[in-house]
Amino acid sequence: MKKWMRLVCAALVSAGLLMTLTGCGKSTTPTTPSKKIVVGTEASFRPFEWRNEKGDIIGFDIELAKEVGAEIGAEVEIQNIPFDGLIAALNNKNIDMVSSAMTITEKRKESVDFSKPYFEATQAIVLKKGSSPKNLSDLKGKNVGIQNGTTGQDVVETLMGNRDPHIKRFESVLDALNTLRIDGLDAVVADKPVVQNYLLSNPESQLVLLDDNSFVKEEYGFAFRKGDTELQTQVNEALDKLEKKGKIKELAAKYLGEK
Ligand code: GLN
Repeated sequence: MKKWMRLVCAALVSAGLLMTLTGCGKSTTPTTPSKKIVVGTEASFRPFEWRNEKGDIIGFDIELAKEVGAEIGAEVEIQNIPFDGLIAALNNKNIDMVSSAMTITEKRKESVDFSKPYFEATQAIVLKKGSSPKNLSDLKGKNVGIQNGTTGQDVVETLMGNRDPHIKRFESVLDALNTLRIDGLDAVVADKPVVQNYLLSNPESQLVLLDDNSFVKEEYGFAFRKGDTELQTQVNEALDKLEKKGKIKELAAKYLGEK
C-alpha cells in the first residue's frame, strides 16, 4: 500500500473511533429528520399555543411537541385548527397528533388514543369584578361563555343541561373573555392557566377569577389516531426522556412561571 493511502486509512479509522468514543453516532437528535409529524393545535390558548407578533405559532405545547420531534428524529409541522375540529382532523389523516392542551377524558378515548399526561390543570370561572356568583352553581340562569368542544363546556352543560340557551358557545376562549369584558356575558368557564395568563396580560380587563372546589384535576395529553401505537409509543418514550432531563419542568417555568 502506498504511503499516502496508509495515511488516509489511518485518518479514517481514527475519525471513526473518535465518533464512537464521543457517542457521535448515537445522537438522539439527528440533523436530518427522516419523517414528519403534522401537529394540530388551536392557536389562541396562551400560554400553551398562540401567535406571536410575527405570526408564528409558539407556546408550551408547541415547544414540547418540537422537543418530542427532536427526540424521535422527526420534523414537526404545526397546523392551526379550531379546537372542536382537531379530533376529526386526526381521524381524516390531515394531522398525526394533537398538541392543544387537550384533557385526557374517557369520552375522547372512544375516538382517539392519548400519550401519557404531560400537564395538570383545572377549570376556573371568570367574572366581572364585583359580580355576585360565589361558586359554580350560582351560574345557573346566567349567560355563561364556553369554548366549543372543551371540558369547560362539559362542566357547564352538566350544571345547566346541554340545551340551556344561557350557554353561549365560542370558537376560542379569547372570544368568550373579550365578550365578557364588553358585558355580553355574565361568566366564562375555561382552563385556569389560560384564564390566569389572560388576567395577567390584561390587568385593565376588570375581570376576576373564581375557583370552585367541585372542579376536578384534568391532565393534558397529546392525541393520536386510534391504533397509531407506533407514534404513541415513540412520543411516550420521548416524553419520558424529556421528563428525566427536566425539560418539561423547564418549559412550565418558561411559559407558566411554575417552579
Ligand atoms: N383542556 C380543555 C379541553 O381539553 C381545553 C383545551 C383547549 O381549549 N385548547 O377541553
